Amino acid sequence: MPELPEMETYKTWLASLIGGRTITNAMIQREKSINIPAGKFMKAVTNQKIQSISRRAKYLIFQLENGSCLLLHLMLGGWMFFGKEEDKPDRTIQIQLSFGDRHLFFIGLRLGYLHLLTPEAVQAAFEKIGPEPLDPHFTLAAFQQRMQQRRGILKTVLTNQEVLAGIGNRYSDEMLWHAQLRPDQKAGHLDNQQLARLYESIRFILHKGIEQGGYMEHPLHVGDGKTGRYQMYVHGRENEPCPRCSSPIRKEEISSHKTYFCPRCQY
Ligand SMILES: [Zn+2]
Repeated sequence: MPELPEMETYKTWLASLIGGRTITNAMIQREKSINIPAGKFMKAVTNQKIQSISRRAKYLIFQLENGSCLLLHLMLGGWMFFGKEEDKPDRTIQIQLSFGDRHLFFIGLRLGYLHLLTPEAVQAAFEKIGPEPLDPHFTLAAFQQRMQQRRGILKTVLTNQEVLAGIGNRYSDEMLWHAQLRPDQKAGHLDNQQLARLYESIRFILHKGIEQGGYMEHPLHVGDGKTGRYQMYVHGRENEPCPRCSSPIRKEEISSHKTYFCPRCQY
């Protein structure tokens, strides 16, 4: 599932590709991916300019000229492509927003969705979501306090959207590896020094992820050399040597998350 760095990458590139442009047409192939009848949806978004695109947690918000918003969550397997009809990936398209002869294709939306909502409804959807880990106001002290209140193990606490926004299964493995912390220990048991290390690792990994365009395997457009250059340290690398100590990376199911870590240098 795309996490904070992937959605941040989409946000930046979509802002330059469709920001300020007008939706000339919309096509809905899968009505379950939207929240109102297709005809109504198409009518509501056609001829609307995209005022701005923002991100919160793993969501993107497309702000339309008339004040309403399109709220996107890609969930598992969702991705986007922008381009001409002839460049369209050979996949089933669930939703298509057109901008003249170029289109934004939404692909792999099974649980993912694009909902047309009022700004108030968007805010309500974010009500329970925790702070953005890269927000300058999210200090080490605030992080320590949040973590010390938690009873769960590190892996589940880090991926809990109510604790921190935008971190999922992949980057949590990367952060815990970087901080040299075992994923199956209690979050509330970490001392201040370990928490400070984790706080730095969260920021380091997210910045690196954004800088390298996340891990998405599909490019956003023809000639896209920016998306998906992030190389995982441990996630998905079972039995490969740990980049720090060369021990084989272990894969374990931790609270129903496939978790990758180094049993030797994470403790
Ligand atoms: Zn190691």
